[in-house]
Amino acid sequence: MSIRWRLALSFALLLVIPATIASMFFFVAFRRYVISEQVDSRLKVYSTLFLTTLASGATDNVDYDVISSTLASLGDTTSPEIWVQLTDADGNVLAKSDNLGDENLPVVSLSQSSVVTVTSASGDELRLLPVGFEAEGQRYQLQFAQSLSSIDPILSRMGVTLILVVMVFLALAFISAAVLVGRALSPVKKVTATAQSITSSSDLTRRVDYRGSKDEIGRLAATFDQMIEQLDGLMRSQRSFVADASHELRGPLTVFQGNLGLLRRNLSEEDRQESLRALEAEAARMTRVINDLLVLAEVESGLLDQQQMVSLRDLLLDAQDRAMLLAGDRQIIVGRQDDLWVKGDAHKLDQMINNLVGNAVKYTPDGGIITLSLCEEDGWARLDVSDTGMGIAPEHLPHLFDRFYRVDKARSRAAGGTGLGLAIVKGIAEQHGGRVAVTSELGKGTMFTVWLKL
Ligand code: ADP
Repeated sequence: MSIRWRLALSFALLLVIPATIASMFFFVAFRRYVISEQVDSRLKVYSTLFLTTLASGATDNVDYDVISSTLASLGDTTSPEIWVQLTDADGNVLAKSDNLGDENLPVVSLSQSSVVTVTSASGDELRLLPVGFEAEGQRYQLQFAQSLSSIDPILSRMGVTLILVVMVFLALAFISAAVLVGRALSPVKKVTATAQSITSSSDLTRRVDYRGSKDEIGRLAATFDQMIEQLDGLMRSQRSFVADASHELRGPLTVFQGNLGLLRRNLSEEDRQESLRALEAEAARMTRVINDLLVLAEVESGLLDQQQMVSLRDLLLDAQDRAMLLAGDRQIIVGRQDDLWVKGDAHKLDQMINNLVGNAVKYTPDGGIITLSLCEEDGWARLDVSDTGMGIAPEHLPHLFDRFYRVDKARSRAAGGTGLGLAIVKGIAEQHGGRVAVTSELGKGTMFTVWLKL
């Protein structure tokens, strides 16, 4: 059974208990009302009428003989039947209405002046009104009674009506619960249908696109869409990554094949050396690409194995020393160098700074200035690597941290670049809970900034 029907059924069943209890209370109250209105008041009216007719309404003016002779003729005059019985002070039955037949009415104490419920000899429940009077110095009691079975048809009609009302009420509760639950669960249905269509078609562009209220289920639908969005992005980047990596490695392999073919022929020593140099250069490039890919794969896993407190200033000064060896006529300056420490992997942070400084050297012509600086900013360590180099056109900036993205492919290759350096920088910064940004002006220079949480 689906959740919808199960919830609707549970809801209806839960309502059965209070509805039944309420109906029972109502039924009991109604029975009391009917007894008092239909039976008791009739008995009172009848007794008054009886005594008024026979004794001008006064019980001290009753003629015993008149009563006893009148009682016998009473019988079919009332409907439902009212029984009347006359007893003496000791409870002996002196006369009774002929509709009583062989039965006698129970005699009750007169202190119970109002109507009482008694059980007759035949087991019937009766309402009985005792009225006492005196005649010729003797005490007598008149009992007026009516069987409660006379109200059974009214009660059973009420019982059937109540059962019908409760059933209609429950049916309405069940239907409205089913409609409400159905409505509330409709996004779940949409999520299931979307998940099924994604599974069967492998089309990750499909979305639930739920526009209803932002309740728990609405949020589930929105979260599902976000998850598929992320998965889609991940799959796309995975695909493009495989395509880019294959493309990147195909170049060196083509050079390999060409040069191996040449080497099989009878080449002059000079050409042979040239071929071998090309092979070595391509092998070195492949090694760099593969090494960078391995680093990137590890960085993008997001996990940090080695964590210790690392001095960013030491890393910056080390990077300056190393860069100076390759800088030629370029100047490498360290500006602010606050003593800042972050928790992380020293080797990776070193690689991140090196990649930025290496790029600054690569893309800045001789005579340019490369400035490194480290300072604190709002609880973050801010590390800047700026240069006075060639700069980057604005349209390239959004893609700069993508894998294998190069502004000038030939130049990057010639400089030994793999196009993975900035993707690694971004990966390492994010792996340490930080971020990286770039500002640049064509022909004037570029500044990369890394923020790491202190
Ligand atoms: P590469 O191995 O090609 O340097 P990167 O990912 O490190 O790859 O850099 C991507 C591209 O960004 C480079 O090809 C280059 O065009 C550009 N770039 C990076 N750093 C600088 C810089 N300091 N100045 C100018 N261009 C830069």
